[in-house]
Amino acid sequence: MHMLAPVLAYVGLGSNLDGPAAQLRLALAEFTELQDTRLVAASPLYRSVPLGLSDQPDYINAAAALVTRLAPLVLLHALQVIEVRHGRRRDGPRWGPRTLDLDLLVYGQTCMQTPELTLPHPGIPERSFVLYPLADIAPGLVIPGHGTVEALRERCDPHSIAALREMTHE
Ligand code: AMP
Repeated sequence: MHMLAPVLAYVGLGSNLDGPAAQLRLALAEFTELQDTRLVAASPLYRSVPLGLSDQPDYINAAAALVTRLAPLVLLHALQVIEVRHGRRRDGPRWGPRTLDLDLLVYGQTCMQTPELTLPHPGIPERSFVLYPLADIAPGLVIPGHGTVEALRERCDPHSIAALREMTHE
């Protein structure tokens, strides 16, 4: 069977329900089980103020780097399987609380826009909760059309995000 060349992809993780830090740590462990994929880096955890609906708990966020031979949509579907396993329901409000949200941020230098998948993820340039963790593992990464992660992070709002203390059990 035709085998795709390995591609470096980045995933954004977020949770604000049911032990968010544990949800993220478990999701990172599940990334190591993904077919034809290797987890090569994971950021520290951050706490962020919710975007959109404000009457909900703060989020815990992180970013991960994967080297994968899965095609973009196959990888997205594998991430959605993990979301569902974490009890993620898609019938809540769009910006409402969630046990696990996985966004495919970047897949190599691929740019695509389909109803199911937009790459790079369109929220990256203005989201502190994506850029802070991503800058920890990939400061020099170029987001196609937007420049480096480090430059984008320097321009984003630092007040809505803070590093989570080590050894926390939130
Ligand atoms: P959300 O509920 O905000 O996580 O949005 C999930 C929906 O966004 C799914 O139906 C995906 O098909 C779609 N989507 C489009 N582009 C992306 C992306 N880069 N990463 C994750 N989901 C995406």
